[in-house]
Amino acid sequence: MGSPHFLLVTFPAQGHINPALQFAKRMIRTGAQVSFATSVSAHRRMAKRPNLEGLQFVPFSDGYDDGFKSSDDIQQYMSEIRRRGSETLREIVVRNSDEGRPFTCIVHTLLVPWAAEVARGLVVPYALLWNEPATVLDIYYYYFNGYGDVFRNISNEPTCSIELPALPLLSSRDLPSFLVNSNAYTFFLPMLQEQLEALNQETNPKVLVNSFDALETEALKAVDKLHLIGIGPLVPSAYLDSKDPSDTSFGGDLFQGSDDYMEWLNSKPKSSVVYVSFGSISVLSKTQKEEIARGLLDCGQPFLWVIRAPENGEEVKEEDKLSCREELEKKGMIVPWCSQIEVLTHPSLGCFVSHCGWNSTLESLVSGVPVVAFPQWADQGTNAKLIEDIWKIGIRVTVNEEGIVESDQIKRCLEIAMRGGVKGEEMRRNAEKWKNLAREAVKDGGSSDMNLKGFVDEVGQGCNESIGS
Ligand code: UDP
Repeated sequence: MGSPHFLLVTFPAQGHINPALQFAKRMIRTGAQVSFATSVSAHRRMAKRPNLEGLQFVPFSDGYDDGFKSSDDIQQYMSEIRRRGSETLREIVVRNSDEGRPFTCIVHTLLVPWAAEVARGLVVPYALLWNEPATVLDIYYYYFNGYGDVFRNISNEPTCSIELPALPLLSSRDLPSFLVNSNAYTFFLPMLQEQLEALNQETNPKVLVNSFDALETEALKAVDKLHLIGIGPLVPSAYLDSKDPSDTSFGGDLFQGSDDYMEWLNSKPKSSVVYVSFGSISVLSKTQKEEIARGLLDCGQPFLWVIRAPENGEEVKEEDKLSCREELEKKGMIVPWCSQIEVLTHPSLGCFVSHCGWNSTLESLVSGVPVVAFPQWADQGTNAKLIEDIWKIGIRVTVNEEGIVESDQIKRCLEIAMRGGVKGEEMRRNAEKWKNLAREAVKDGGSSDMNLKGFVDEVGQGCNESIGS
């Protein structure tokens, strides 16, 4: 019997590509072959594409081969990626089948539900790789399956809380932003609904979740209809189980920068540095950045702050420049991009001011670094809730009436995260605990390791059947 062959389709964003590449590496370790499909533009921009036996890249055009720009129309983009992506994917599946390398299963990330449609059309099994917590998937599932009105009521009443089976009590700021503010990104909910309905129609729908059994014990089992399989955290193995000590980067960086910051970190005392990053998408207002700058300076600890450069190599406009730039550069370092996982695992790291993207959340967890949770949108409010109240590894900032987090508030949270007191001590203790549990999950025989092998064995059983013709 040949080795199982997976087609992994990923939306071309950093937060999708990083875990998907890690997933591909794990699958290859089980003996599988992986064809990795993302857009031509993301493929071209991937700085350090891993060169691994068993891994091949099969990029598809989304119609934006020079990259999506923030001035482009997102709805238009989503329909183009669907149209062109589906076409190319069909060709890839048929071609591989004709060449005697049929796909055993198509695994796809969020935002590309059309990959499942292609799979169904060609009668190839498929699974969803869910790169958010299981808790968030449960919330969406409840929203579309019987609880819609409850959500609509709570969005008008920000002080109320919502009780959902097997989940903690959630207030409106803890809910995925698309459920509260449905005016933004209107394509998202229908797309997700399509995805969940398709899974609902399957007899044995499989969702691989970038989480692990100990982290979300209840949430992974909350929805009977969906088979949620904890296979994470999808972080390079050198930071987890050291199965491959050379595996230190995600390999999918869409942004590049110099790595002078590592030397700078080396010069700082243990646990002294505040690391600040809002991920690869969020853009903060000038007012918010000024407040962060003040908070950092008032706290007095050295800091490494990622402020992404404007798109297309443009210069920062004069009016966007921070007023206290000189002072900031004396005390800290501002970079356009860094290797975040390397930074988080550096001994000088003291805490992480994070937008709570799911990858960043898992990376702080496996690094044992306490978090100042500063969520912006999407799943980040829910992630912040889990960080602060459930795993107790961080403290969440509060916004004022204008939606801004003021410098005093930032300073106060930093002091708790960096200097301790009862809450700070608790955060540090828990961060260490979850770091160890994450490592347990991915080691040989750990829950995620066993779950992944179980998945490959199960879908691999049909791998000699002719598929996709
Ligand atoms: N990241 C990085 N360097 C940076 C900022 C972010 O390597 O300077 C990586 C980070 O390690 C994570 C990903 O980009 O893997 C961001 O994903 P996340 O889900 O946290 O946020 P998103 O960008 O999707 O909002």
